[in-house]
Amino acid sequence: MKKVISAKDVEEAIRKGVDLDALTAGAILTPSAKDVIREHGGKTASVAKPSGGVSGTGSEPSQQLSSKSPKGDLEDLFNSAYCQYLKEQIVDVGRRMWEREYVDGNGGNIAIRVGEDIAVCTPTLVSKGFMKPEDMALVDFEGNQILGQKKRTSEILMHLQIMKKQPRAVATAHCHPPTSTGYAVAGIEPPTCMIPEFEVFSSVAIAPYRTPGTPEMGKLVADLVDKHNTILMANHGVVSWSHNNVEDAYFKMEILEAYCKTVLIAAQLGKEPNTMTPGQLKDLLAIKQNLGIPDPRIGLKECELCDNAEWRPGVTCAVPPKDEATVSGEVSPEAEAAVKAITDQILQKLQG
Ligand SMILES: [Zn+2]
Repeated sequence: MKKVISAKDVEEAIRKGVDLDALTAGAILTPSAKDVIREHGGKTASVAKPSGGVSGTGSEPSQQLSSKSPKGDLEDLFNSAYCQYLKEQIVDVGRRMWEREYVDGNGGNIAIRVGEDIAVCTPTLVSKGFMKPEDMALVDFEGNQILGQKKRTSEILMHLQIMKKQPRAVATAHCHPPTSTGYAVAGIEPPTCMIPEFEVFSSVAIAPYRTPGTPEMGKLVADLVDKHNTILMANHGVVSWSHNNVEDAYFKMEILEAYCKTVLIAAQLGKEPNTMTPGQLKDLLAIKQNLGIPDPRIGLKECELCDNAEWRPGVTCAVPPKDEATVSGEVSPEAEAAVKAITDQILQKLQG
């Protein structure tokens, strides 16, 4: 597993004069660690380097632009070294998706937030394995194209709806990895409590099918991104978001696809798989929380975790619906009324 750098680590490194780039290379930064780096004026994790093939990071613009900013400022941003670096990251991630057969034809799309309500995204009708940085488009959060030679992806609305609903989403990725998409076609959420990587980095949910590119599709996905970072889109594919960078959003695909394959193998071995104990899962959820990754199970009691006694694909940890959860020590109105009725009866008897 990757090294996790906390705010304390960063503060100590600054005190000792350690190079922050060297400290954070290839590591995962907690959200508070990123804040400390930002305050220190160092590089922020939202432009962390993906491994291989990309050079020169540029620096993040000092002031956030919006779709209302002057056209000249938006052009400067779109043609800056910073945006060039992000476009190269998108090209790099697209190539990795294609090489792993997570996309087919012109399928798949990627977006990175670059301002208050603007994002750089992939073009339509270009294979994700053969994109160039100059193919990218700049769009506002309604999906209107502001800049770029090629027309933006037809599925951009879903990415933008995720970014609007989840302010922490700096990057989004969508593709059709065959095994995960198989689960999405069957309408089965992968079971939990089997592999640490999946428990720590992924929070998966299924969104119902709607026609790709429609606002309805985007809304159903966006409704889930509060507590989940990887959404199986029924009869379609997968979309993920990251609070770090686009490579991290792509990693969610690798983790999910590998996990779905592993579960399929485990299901064929003729023996019920061994699963984690609730205590073991609790430890992983603590790491997850520390990394700033959402999960609806965070905060559940141990006895509510890993309820996988009758394991089969599709079984997940039991998360009680919100209205079933009771606050300890709180008395319901019904119970209060019952106590009052009994007390009244006793008082009547004593008085009678
Ligand atoms: Zn798609």
